[in-house]
Amino acid sequence: MYPRLKNLYHSSLKDKRFDTIIIGSGLGGLTTAVLLAKAGKKVLVLEKHYVPGGFTHTFKRKKMVWDVGVHYVGQMSDKDGLLRKSFDYLTDNKLKWADIGDVYDQVIIKGDTYDFVKGIQNQIKQLIHYFPNEEIAIRKYFDLVEKVASNSKWFFGERAMPYWLSNTLGYFFRKKFYKYSDRTTYDVLSELTNNEKLISVLSAQCGNYGLTPKQSSFGIHAMVVEHFIDGGNYPIGGASSIHKYLIEELEKHGGELALKADVKNVIIKNNKAIGVLMQNEDQLFANKVVSNAAHNTFKNLLVMN
Ligand SMILES: Cc1cc2nc3c(=O)[nH]c(=O)nc-3n(C[C@H](O)[C@H](O)[C@H](O)COP(=O)(O)OP(=O)(O)OC[C@H]3O[C@@H](n4cnc5c(N)ncnc54)[C@H](O)[C@@H]3O)c2cc1C
Repeated sequence: MYPRLKNLYHSSLKDKRFDTIIIGSGLGGLTTAVLLAKAGKKVLVLEKHYVPGGFTHTFKRKKMVWDVGVHYVGQMSDKDGLLRKSFDYLTDNKLKWADIGDVYDQVIIKGDTYDFVKGIQNQIKQLIHYFPNEEIAIRKYFDLVEKVASNSKWFFGERAMPYWLSNTLGYFFRKKFYKYSDRTTYDVLSELTNNEKLISVLSAQCGNYGLTPKQSSFGIHAMVVEHFIDGGNYPIGGASSIHKYLIEELEKHGGELALKADVKNVIIKNNKAIGVLMQNEDQLFANKVVSNAAHNTFKNLLVMN
């Protein structure tokens, strides 16, 4: 399907004026782009790869499709849940999900297999079955996961509040989450138990956020565990369906996507981002610039010009 000629970057884009330029067409960039386009804004997404979608890329080998990143997402079975409703809105109900079954994760440590089963009570029961002497620690762990995940909603909610409110009351919304986000997963777990095997099993989902238990924040760990607690769902058609339907929706609402569009840096004037400089030295301007290029933004794109 890609690269589609119509999506390849062309210098004529520099003659247009955009409300928002978005750097990167990963899930974050495309979500922002669709929301803005649906709100009537003129949006341009610049993607340096010749395939859009970031970690929703897939590739084909011998008729089989392989996902490079996203391979399951939680909370998609609840049609009335916020996350599911968000995806439905963003893809105009086109993206469909398949339940991946009662066991959504499987951990194998030194030949022993541990299933992660759907539903918090089922999972507690299953873990007590594996570690009968650790019932208290297991129950305390899940209480803590639920508490910290719930506090994270206040933390993120505060980000969306008006400046005056966040400036005056923000601290109180953030502080409960900071208490655990500032501690490592290993640190918190080893307070609950000294059973290293149980700690390993409880931390095994760290593959989802990419840091070891001694490096990761317990706040993020708790959010990920809670996210999958009721099971996982697979995007029908593979991870690339996610970006495919997002792009369809973006273009339906007048947004544009340019591939092979490598941003060299963000143009800053009077401490405000006013546009981007491309690798070919084209300059593109917009009222707002949003970067979805994660740490690349701070490492490479914010050169003071
Ligand atoms: C191996 C792996 C497995 C994962 N599995 C899951 C999972 O099963 N479920 C789940 O929910 N999450 C999973 N994740 C996490 C999830 O994939 C990511 O959190 C999410 O896709 C990140 O999206 P993003 O938009 O922030 O960034 P990205 O997907 O990284 O997108 C950033 C985009 O910016 C582009 N870009 C960068 N610099 C520039 C530039 N200068 N100019 C133009 N474009 C630029 C990049 O090419 C890229 O397309 C997994 C991650 C990995 C690595």
